[in-house]
Amino acid sequence: MARQMMVRCANCGVQFPAAVESIVDAGRDPEAKLRLLGGALNAVQCSNCGYQMAIGAPVLYHDASKELLIGFVPPELNLSNDQQEKALGDLMRELTNQIPKEQFKGYLFQPRRALTLQGLIEQVLGADGVTPEMIETQKARARLIERLMETPEHALKQVIAENDALIDGAFFQTMNLMAQRLAGSGAVAAAEQILMVQARITEESSYGRQAMARAQAEEALVQEVADEVEALGEDADRPEFLALALRYRDDESRLRALVGLARPVFDYAFFQDMTAEISRAPAAERDGLERLRETLLTLAQEVDQQTQAAVRAAAQLLQQVINAPDIDEAIQRIGPLIDSTFLSVLDANLQQAQRNGDQALLQRLSYVYQQVNAMIEQTMPPALRFINDLLATETDEDASALLDAHAREHADDLLPTIDAVEGVLAQRGESDLLRKLVFLRALAERILL
Ligand SMILES: [Zn+2]
Repeated sequence: MARQMMVRCANCGVQFPAAVESIVDAGRDPEAKLRLLGGALNAVQCSNCGYQMAIGAPVLYHDASKELLIGFVPPELNLSNDQQEKALGDLMRELTNQIPKEQFKGYLFQPRRALTLQGLIEQVLGADGVTPEMIETQKARARLIERLMETPEHALKQVIAENDALIDGAFFQTMNLMAQRLAGSGAVAAAEQILMVQARITEESSYGRQAMARAQAEEALVQEVADEVEALGEDADRPEFLALALRYRDDESRLRALVGLARPVFDYAFFQDMTAEISRAPAAERDGLERLRETLLTLAQEVDQQTQAAVRAAAQLLQQVINAPDIDEAIQRIGPLIDSTFLSVLDANLQQAQRNGDQALLQRLSYVYQQVNAMIEQTMPPALRFINDLLATETDEDASALLDAHAREHADDLLPTIDAVEGVLAQRGESDLLRKLVFLRALAERILL
């Protein structure tokens, strides 16, 4: 709940209107709570000189879910006790006017007080189960990251070893968040620097080595399951996947890998078949099968949620680019974040704009599409880029001429790369491109072998 008031700039003295928040209701406005914790509550920028300053205003903090009501009057306002009581009393009335009488509870009549802003923040965090010790640890993490960023390459190993105890999952998370924030604000070089130092920490710290070993074990497990799925063959049916799931029944990691690799198999019909199977099974086995069915359903939901989250993030990224004042610069900035999800979201938006006949949007999206594809192509291995060009030719004669002219430049990689692309196209069911590629491979063989 913000109200407009005139503020005088402490730097240039100009008066300007600013929104001041005096009631922070965590239940109604969780963002306001984050602003308070992040030190951004009532932080304003002078419209004349750009000076950043904090407006000292009384604050009433309310969180109904935690039965928390805290009043804070900044000491720099130099208010007398009576004036402080009146200021908070006004805010209390404003707050309680919005709460239905039947929801009134005792804590609403006994607000706590905080003497400093830091004290207010600590009380709020304390109610969330965040202790001052935890805050201290987080500060120590941030200090260590800063120090590591300033440490020359050759001394990194030493500093990491000295601080091994502080390096854990939360430490890596803090680094990731910093890198994201920097990349988001355009400081790409600094973000990359963080990720480079992080790679060293992964190699040199106990936690990093353990995490790497875990990741490798997981990768090996997924590869194992992928091999088994592949061994089922292309026209494997539901009973075969069910048989595989039954073999993995006591191993949730393998089940998770299976559902992740073959999510489309675990559709409505699969679970229908399975239910029928369960009803036919001997009574003694039914409970176990029911449990497996529940596990598979949960895993399928998890996969879907992850996909949805990825799609939402990609859609946001695309919006940022479309709305950016400098679209080229924006594309360069998001370069490292472009993945297959981003490309399919871009594709879906293009089609939507086409259907809606939104020419302005269509133009911008098409431009992004061209630039992104050009950027991806630049980072492709030369043989792959060559195959891409071959597939883009209009006629077989064009393709043949292009092969004649350049196939020998890619003598070592061309055939293996064609085989790899064939595999990808087959998986995606792109039969037209696949036919073209088979034709190209035969031509290339004739030239190269
Ligand atoms: Zn100013």
